[in-house]
Amino acid sequence: MKIKLLGTGTSTGVPELGCSCEVCTSADPRDSRLRCSAMVEDNDVRLLIDCGPDFRTQLLREPFRKIDAVLLTHKHYDHVAGLDDLRPFCTGGEIPVYAEQETVMQVRTIFPYCFAEIKYPGVPNLQLCTVDVETPFKVKHLEIVPIRVFHGKMPIAGYRIGDLAYITDMSYIEPCELQKLHGVKVLVMNALRYSKPHRTHQTVLEALKIVDYIKPRATYFTHLMHHIGLHAKIEKCLPCGVHLGYDGLEIKI
Ligand SMILES: [Zn+2]
Ligand SMILES: [Zn+2]
Ligand SMILES: [Zn+2]
Repeated sequence: MKIKLLGTGTSTGVPELGCSCEVCTSADPRDSRLRCSAMVEDNDVRLLIDCGPDFRTQLLREPFRKIDAVLLTHKHYDHVAGLDDLRPFCTGGEIPVYAEQETVMQVRTIFPYCFAEIKYPGVPNLQLCTVDVETPFKVKHLEIVPIRVFHGKMPIAGYRIGDLAYITDMSYIEPCELQKLHGVKVLVMNALRYSKPHRTHQTVLEALKIVDYIKPRATYFTHLMHHIGLHAKIEKCLPCGVHLGYDGLEIKI
């Protein structure tokens, strides 16, 4: 199995519009971060995790291949806005989109024409599948275990797929849910910036406490903002086995 990080930026992306800080003007491609998304691939099965406003740009960089399902973590724009751009991927049939009830409702509200009785020609053919966070489900041969995490006060979903776990936009996880991460080899997890606390996102310092408890073989941080600092500089400050993710990074599990 492998995971490719298609986007590792926070909701504004990096560079942030109008900013001229050293990160936003950096020539290092690892400092340019599209909105947060990833593609998981195992044999011939491909899962997209989140589908934000940069989805089309992200997929232009990839060979055109089928997507078997989309997993959504939550309803925010930077995680769902690109669903309409799944059109070319739906020519082979419906794409199941897995999300919790609140996200399902939001997707129906943003894209009502995709779920109309009589559809406008060419609209993406999406099948909304409601996720119960307590109940694992399967896409082809892959078992997906939803993980309850909190984004400020909002309950959202993370996902474990075998030895991989993907969590974004988290500020808190309850100890009982942390158990679901036991034994993961690769953890992709959000960290907004290094140390200054934020109401709805954890920092690198907070994320490192989880890493220390779970002890995955490798951890990659995502959903990073420009205040994280230069990729090359911060990467050197992280403990062994912990890295900043960057757009296009492929990790084998
Ligand atoms: Zn986000
Ligand atoms: Zn900046
Ligand atoms: Zn969010």
